[in-house]
Amino acid sequence: SAARPRLYDTAAIQQLDSAHYLHPFTNFQDLNAKGARVMVRGEGIYLWDSQGSKILDGMSGLWCVNVGYGRTRISEAVYRQMETLPFYNSFFNTTNVPAVQLAAKLVEIAPLYFNHVFFTGSGSEANDTNVRMVRRYWDLLGQPQRHTIISRHNAYHGSTVAGASLGGMDGMHAQGGLPIPGIVHIGQPNYFESGKGMSEDAFGLLAASWLEEKILELGPEQVAAFIGEPVQGAGGVLIPPASYWPEIQRICDKYGVLLIADEVICGFGRLGKWFASELFGIKPDLITFAKGVTSGYVPLGGVLVGDRVADVLIDKGGEFNHGFTYSGHPVACAAALENIRIIEEEELVRKVAEDTGPYLKKRFAELGGHPLVGHADSCGFVAGLNLVRRKGATMHDCQLFEPEQGVGMICRGYLFDKGMIMRAVGDRMIVAPPLVMTRAQIDEMIALIRACLDATH
Ligand code: PLP
Repeated sequence: SAARPRLYDTAAIQQLDSAHYLHPFTNFQDLNAKGARVMVRGEGIYLWDSQGSKILDGMSGLWCVNVGYGRTRISEAVYRQMETLPFYNSFFNTTNVPAVQLAAKLVEIAPLYFNHVFFTGSGSEANDTNVRMVRRYWDLLGQPQRHTIISRHNAYHGSTVAGASLGGMDGMHAQGGLPIPGIVHIGQPNYFESGKGMSEDAFGLLAASWLEEKILELGPEQVAAFIGEPVQGAGGVLIPPASYWPEIQRICDKYGVLLIADEVICGFGRLGKWFASELFGIKPDLITFAKGVTSGYVPLGGVLVGDRVADVLIDKGGEFNHGFTYSGHPVACAAALENIRIIEEEELVRKVAEDTGPYLKKRFAELGGHPLVGHADSCGFVAGLNLVRRKGATMHDCQLFEPEQGVGMICRGYLFDKGMIMRAVGDRMIVAPPLVMTRAQIDEMIALIRACLDATH
């Protein structure tokens, strides 16, 4: 790139970092020993660190930079909005123009029966909103006992107390005495872990039947909602069998249970539709969104509220005692509007569905032939491969090599050194690249992954 990043005093930044900054999801001692890699600039699908090294970002930051880095149009939209009106809330019968325009835009791209949006600052806050909103819904319908929400083991729904409770990560529940009461979990549709000896479709139906079992065990009159990520992201890009979601929908309909699709990762084109619910043929009552709505340029999240819930909240309503200072933040909404315009103008949703997504699928499937790979698959622009553990794998040229860690962490460290970000979830390696990634860049990414597998093998 012509514009070279200026060099930073990396050691000084790392020292201040260790001294003062408590990072999220980080082992502090580990960080202090190694020093963080300092990211200073981004352009397209690439990042540059403080030493001037270029890195292919296979994870779109945290699954969010859908339109890629360095989009001047978004920064200009943000600047204009900050100059005009940097903040005003929408409490107490006020509103602001970008929030209204964004709500209308989201309704336009959402499935037909969505006519309302509730804004938050993040995906976690949006899922907290879901908990309160579905319980309020049943209260207003005179069924206050109907408060239990069913989620899935290994799900990720955020890091607030309710978000982490909805999530099914044991490590998160272990810290802070979670989950909170009224949230229970069933098994995830992980075919490779639990579906041995069955067809994928038969396993999908079995995994969905765990929902019906749980509803019957609790009593349908106790169950407010079921929540799930259409494709589980942080849990390891687990693509469910085709039979799973339609059966979940059937069960929710049968017992009147509300369906919440957490599309914080899956929304905004990542799976080749504006919302992945359309891909899986489900009609959720609520859709959680965040990340891709602004491509991460400015924090923003929210809930798309379908007519079933919105009509009750509005008509039977009174005040819904919920909201955040930054609900409908005008700057965040202006960023989202420009981001959505880019996605539309560059036809990124169609490209992921018809062009680069299928190409990624083909190239990823080829990795399945590698001796270190048990299975490789993708859906739109999320992809994962199962590493087959081999004893004695060494990575002598990898500074981050940790002998006690699994081969997934070894590969992640190797790639990070070589200039690519890929994530490891146990022995599953995953990517979620920016939607602007071209075929040539997919080839570049696959070549890096293959070189890593070869070195590990
Ligand atoms: N839901 C899902 C499916 C997510 O993947 C995430 C974050 O990764 C969240 C919710 C939480 O979003 P946030 O980190 O913006 O609070």
